[in-house]
Amino acid sequence: MRLDKFVCKSTEFTKHEAVRLIQAGEIIVNGKAITNESAQVHENNKITLHGEALKSRAFRYILLHKPANTICSNIDEHYPSLFNCLDVEKQAELHVVGRLDVDTTGLVLITDDGRWSFGVTNPAGHCSKVYRVGLSRPVAEEVVSLFAEGIRLQGEAQLTLPAQLEVINSKEVLLTLTQGKFHQVKRMFAAVGNRVVSLKREKIGNISLDVAVGEWRYLTDAEVISVN
Ligand code: URA
Repeated sequence: MRLDKFVCKSTEFTKHEAVRLIQAGEIIVNGKAITNESAQVHENNKITLHGEALKSRAFRYILLHKPANTICSNIDEHYPSLFNCLDVEKQAELHVVGRLDVDTTGLVLITDDGRWSFGVTNPAGHCSKVYRVGLSRPVAEEVVSLFAEGIRLQGEAQLTLPAQLEVINSKEVLLTLTQGKFHQVKRMFAAVGNRVVSLKREKIGNISLDVAVGEWRYLTDAEVISVN
């Protein structure tokens, strides 16, 4: 990773402060002052500041129950950011893994590990996401097989990947997807003449939503490994 990122991850310094320290020659990598903040370093390098070894902090993996009328970006816009629910440091380093719409509630994963989030969201990884969907009209029987075969969304050339639909009652279903196209659930039901009136993500891979609305917790190591 870049030297300035390493310094930020291993200290309480901001990026600006880290760059100043590096350019001033205060950061020593394997016995040599490195003044280029974009130099690539490895966790195994010996990196010191004023004689003290810097150790990169572990990545963070968080599960949050997103309330309705919040957005998944890091800052408030027209609606408040869901990051207001989190009381952790250095929030600017974190990002949401697979965003939800403003009106969608439920399970959101948050991390500063870009590789991990790519693994969770990449359709080739086949990590499933389960949504509980409320519908405006009774779900037609043939929708189960239509979704299993894949359907064409408006404006898309390719069919959706096979999705599993479990009917709870005529207007409530569980939908399992392994991809995350923009507004995918709403567009899939629109494509079969229905309309989503409520949407909640309940599961990602083996990770289930188990905290109250607006609450959060760190993932266990087993959960982190399970979705990649
Ligand atoms: N599909 C949608 O339509 N919206 C979401 O928030 C998530 C999946």
